[in-house]
Amino acid sequence: MIIGIPKEIKNNESRVGMTPAGVFELVKKDHKVYVQSGAGEGSGFFNTDYQKAGAVVLDSIAEVYGLSEMIVKVKEPIEEEYELIKEGQLLFTYFHFASSESLTKAMIKAKAICIAYETVEDADGSLPLLTPMSEVAGRLAIQQGAKYLEKPVKGRGVLLGGVPGVAPGKVLILGAGVVGIQAAKMAAGLGAHVTIMDVNMKRLRYVNDVMPPHVVTEFSNEFNIRKHIKTHDLIIGGVLLKGAKAPNLITRDMLKEMRPGTVIVDVAVDQGGCVETTRPTTHEDPIYIIDDVVHYSVANMPGAVPYTSTVALTNVTFPYCLKLANMGWEAACEQDASLQKGLNIISGKVVYEEIIEAFGWEK
Ligand code: NAD
Repeated sequence: MIIGIPKEIKNNESRVGMTPAGVFELVKKDHKVYVQSGAGEGSGFFNTDYQKAGAVVLDSIAEVYGLSEMIVKVKEPIEEEYELIKEGQLLFTYFHFASSESLTKAMIKAKAICIAYETVEDADGSLPLLTPMSEVAGRLAIQQGAKYLEKPVKGRGVLLGGVPGVAPGKVLILGAGVVGIQAAKMAAGLGAHVTIMDVNMKRLRYVNDVMPPHVVTEFSNEFNIRKHIKTHDLIIGGVLLKGAKAPNLITRDMLKEMRPGTVIVDVAVDQGGCVETTRPTTHEDPIYIIDDVVHYSVANMPGAVPYTSTVALTNVTFPYCLKLANMGWEAACEQDASLQKGLNIISGKVVYEEIIEAFGWEK
């Protein structure tokens, strides 16, 4: 198969759909790979790295789309790319169709085959191509939170690990899913005192089994949250209700209960956030302050660490790329039930029910 790796053109996106290691494996299996010049630079992979791995580097995005049967990307195509997509071309990337009717209509019009990373689903309901980004965001949440606790950026002036003779900082984590557990691990590693809350007892039992004793579990309810926000320095929002907006576990009035300089990192911002005062921010302007509480709510946190994020993402997407290249999309999806769930649009027809429901279209 002929595979194309375009450079991401969405604002602030430095990740790339395939690393030289992936190219190497595909070429070994007699596939041809075209990489747009500079596509990997933001993640630290240069044209020469791709060439050494066996790719052909092309100057323009139009050539990459024009010559390829399968396009492997990170983010959904943006308007300037719509015209480049060919009928029957296979697109393997994040799409998040339900949040954009115009993108959905454009891909229907293009008559492409769209397999969306975010809906590839394992038998246990987990989403394997979203997990690595939650892992990155969870770990990064503590790194960012620790930074914004510093006084020059309006934080409380607390060192999370403390020092001999001074108690460590306290971290409250809402949600013991992928984000929450990775955050807990990082905070515990720094020596902070960690409280992690969830409504799912299975998750809390697991955390209790695997974490050190300075990570304490507690059932998530308003009473307990109100109690802890008064004494914790850093609060991480990592709650997810599948297919729904995140619940506002911290309401506006609760900010007054927190000490000045408390930091909230609301990772769940992409689902509306679990803090009432959360609004999406960017890497250029990541924080704002309300009632002396620092809010960090960058909607694409993994974008801050594109090298790690690209490698983490392609580690999980690549086996599917290889399968699609070796077998073609129809046979690959028939053979692999997880990949089949990723099929969203086939040659102008939406095949993923939730998208139709999201726009209230007739089935
Ligand atoms: P997950 O499904 O693994 O975990 C969510 C957890 O929230 C579950 O354990 C669930 O039981 C728990 N939960 C539900 N209701 C709760 C409540 N009332 N109180 C406490 N816990 C509750 O999800 P995840 O992969 O950890 O993702 C968490 C959020 O982070 C999602 O909204 C995801 O989209 C977001 N995310 C954001 C970024 C970013 O860049 N901002 C990156 C990755 C993920």
